[in-house]
Amino acid sequence: MTRSPIRIAVLHFQHETVTFLRNDTTIDDFVYPGSPARGEALLASGPKSYMGGFVQIAREFDGVELVGIESPLWPRTGSGSGWVTQDAYETFVGRMIAQIKAEGPFDGVYLCVHGAMAARGIPRPEAELARGVREVVGPREIIAATFDPHGNEDEAFLRHADLAFCGKYFPHYDSHLQGERAARTLVRAVRGAYRPASATVKVPIISPTVVQWTGASPWMDLVQRALTWEAREPDAYVNVYFGFPWSDVPDAGMTVQAITNGDAALARQIADDMAHYAWQRRETLLNSTRVHTIPEGVALAKRALATGETPVVLADHSDRSGYATWLLREIIAQELENTLVATIADAGAIARLDGAAPGDAFDMAVGGSADESAGEPVRITGTVRNALERSGQRWVSVDFGRGNVLVISPYLVQIMEPSTLTDAGLDPASFKAIAIKSRVHFRRGFDDSGFARTILLVEPTEPFLGAVRLDALRYENLALRAFYPYGNPRFPA
Ligand SMILES: [Zn+2]
Repeated sequence: MTRSPIRIAVLHFQHETVTFLRNDTTIDDFVYPGSPARGEALLASGPKSYMGGFVQIAREFDGVELVGIESPLWPRTGSGSGWVTQDAYETFVGRMIAQIKAEGPFDGVYLCVHGAMAARGIPRPEAELARGVREVVGPREIIAATFDPHGNEDEAFLRHADLAFCGKYFPHYDSHLQGERAARTLVRAVRGAYRPASATVKVPIISPTVVQWTGASPWMDLVQRALTWEAREPDAYVNVYFGFPWSDVPDAGMTVQAITNGDAALARQIADDMAHYAWQRRETLLNSTRVHTIPEGVALAKRALATGETPVVLADHSDRSGYATWLLREIIAQELENTLVATIADAGAIARLDGAAPGDAFDMAVGGSADESAGEPVRITGTVRNALERSGQRWVSVDFGRGNVLVISPYLVQIMEPSTLTDAGLDPASFKAIAIKSRVHFRRGFDDSGFARTILLVEPTEPFLGAVRLDALRYENLALRAFYPYGNPRFPA
């Protein structure tokens, strides 16, 4: 039996927007060599991620044609920028929709989105993208998407699209897998073998990203419960969006979603169960990850050094600029030894260190001052250890104190893998403690890999942007009191 060929349009539009940062994300931030991408270049972007999984499986089917619609890749600012401007959003979406119209008809569309994009003037950017695509492809064509678990979503997206697949783990180990599932289910739906029925429930819980690590209960249990539903019920897909609280948007907070093959009642049952399960555990969800004050964390690190529970990772999860010096200052004050601090961002210091060579004397105040959450510069005296170029950036490391090394970089660096340090000419295994800037992603290389014996998450005593005290932020598009733990919402409402 021969089947008619299937044409699928493939789009990418992602950002994780910290709306509290002052620098908007502009058209220029999305335009650089390689971005926007179209055709094969788009399909080859992110081979280990959602896009790679989607393309791999779609191409296992005969007669499936993928058309890479011109799409911007991640902005060069990464997640270190604020609101996507309305101009940027409308320009890129307008071009995508025009190309779909010009090159159609299509049987299906794959949207590789994130879920935590925040655009000025567009309250729900991903749902708005799906709405625009629906208008041009027609009511019966299948629209499928993949999401990051930090997506801020509600029922609006599936009003315009048919299928959604959200990563389950944080760190995000299953992005490729979710892309694979999206491709398989999209092709089946186009052929009439999968008829999506869905249910979406908002759970009024808002949490800082640092506590959302799925290596600990009850976040781990929430993942396990979703997997159990999927194993019990063939063709059921369960999405848990943890949410991204640094985006001031109306659909922030936790959301659960279930999709089944034509069984609306089952989708409703699964979504209600998952929501109830999370709500019952709201208190422990917020308290599963212990975050220490910086003085407390450094004292605990000293104790671990004394008892041999090393290496220690001290992770300042709160620093959004990269310039924060609170942890470095405390390491010096408590005379922590054999410690690698990577990194302190300071573009000015890097410029002044042009020409620095190993063995040069070093005496400079570094970091701080980017905003109040970065603290004051800290004076370091020591010896330049090395200076090297890393992906177009110059990093300088300095020996100071008793066996300590400080790495200075021009921008915020989230160290996720020891290999990044090895590439910078350092031997991570030779240090007793490593102080980094990361929330959860570092667990990929330092915790789940078996590298570290002691993991300590720290933040400054003050409730700066990025720290766990969300009530210190000025939200305008949502009421914190409508969410646990800042109010007493009724659930189910
Ligand atoms: Zn994420």
